[in-house]
Amino acid sequence: GDTVTEFGLDDLPIREDLRGTAPYGAPQLDVPVALNTNENPYPPSDRLAEALAREVGSVAAGLNRYPDRDATRLREALAGYLGHGLDAQRVWAANGSNEVLQQILQVFGGPGRSAMGFEPSYSMHPIITRATNTTWVAHRRGPDFAIDTEEATRAIAEQRPDIVFVTSPNNPTGTAMPLEAIESVLRVAPGVVVVDEAYAEFRREGTPSALTLLDEHPRLVVSRTMSKAFAMAGARIGYLAAHPAVVQAMQLVRLPYHLSEVSQVVAATALEFSDELLGAVKRLREERDSTVEWLRAHGFAVADSDANFVLFGEFADRSAVWRAMLDRGVLIREVGPPGWLRVTIGTPEEMSAFREALLWAAPDHQ
Ligand code: PMP
Repeated sequence: GDTVTEFGLDDLPIREDLRGTAPYGAPQLDVPVALNTNENPYPPSDRLAEALAREVGSVAAGLNRYPDRDATRLREALAGYLGHGLDAQRVWAANGSNEVLQQILQVFGGPGRSAMGFEPSYSMHPIITRATNTTWVAHRRGPDFAIDTEEATRAIAEQRPDIVFVTSPNNPTGTAMPLEAIESVLRVAPGVVVVDEAYAEFRREGTPSALTLLDEHPRLVVSRTMSKAFAMAGARIGYLAAHPAVVQAMQLVRLPYHLSEVSQVVAATALEFSDELLGAVKRLREERDSTVEWLRAHGFAVADSDANFVLFGEFADRSAVWRAMLDRGVLIREVGPPGWLRVTIGTPEEMSAFREALLWAAPDHQ
């Protein structure tokens, strides 16, 4: 027989708990308008691209050596960007916030331990949880996609998870969690509370970051990324801010030299262009707000968004709408509660293609 075709995943002696699970799977399709993975639509400016090339060039001749294992210069730069009196001792970096989250699970989760989340939320939280042999405990968000503080604190007190995930602003709903609600969770949680702030820079005025709570709460971890606001999804840089003890704990599980010299220098260089990059974030927030307005004006239900995407509905057959839009070259995401779709905010031109494709796909909304 042909071993290549006859031998499959099921024939491998993989961990029993991995059998029947599915990999993370946002479709990567080559389409004119890709608004499906919450990327930043603005590529690096010529000035930034040149600086990146120059800085990568300057370390190229030293790539025979391992990088700084502790990425100290980058962590200092990240702390400087975050402010709040943070320093390198309280910041940790890895290959995307997904790796940060995985390291958190490796330290605080594992067999016999559990992590709790409030769905719908970021699909990687349960996947990373299970991949690290940790039990996933799911609770639901309310009809407005907010976490009901009373229900959440009761569930945490009863089930005593080792890790609580709060995504704020939440993916895929865009919902930010008020600080008082996060404080309530921190008061009852027996383990660590991870506030996933991948979309922090896109928040509207008046929703402060959980970074302001760090001084009071040594078991709070705020996770961030350069993939969204900093338009560096391809560079894979995520980071966290927490008590120095949490950063020390990360060093117990990280692979030696996990963050390449190229990644470190790219991230540090992009941080030097913060002003320019955050200027584009401001434009995206305005585009987001006008997209929400437009959708509502056309009779769609829309979740309030503090992120660079918008969840809207409700469709009797969302797959048909998704597919019809794709036929027009506009790729959005079929994710979240049944009947809803998520669109990432793109350039004004991309959003106009989105609006046109949507009205074509959902002709009862005019
Ligand atoms: N957290 C949330 C809530 C996200 O939506 C994403 C990316 N979609 C991530 C973390 C991971 O992003 P990255 O690994 O690129 O930092």
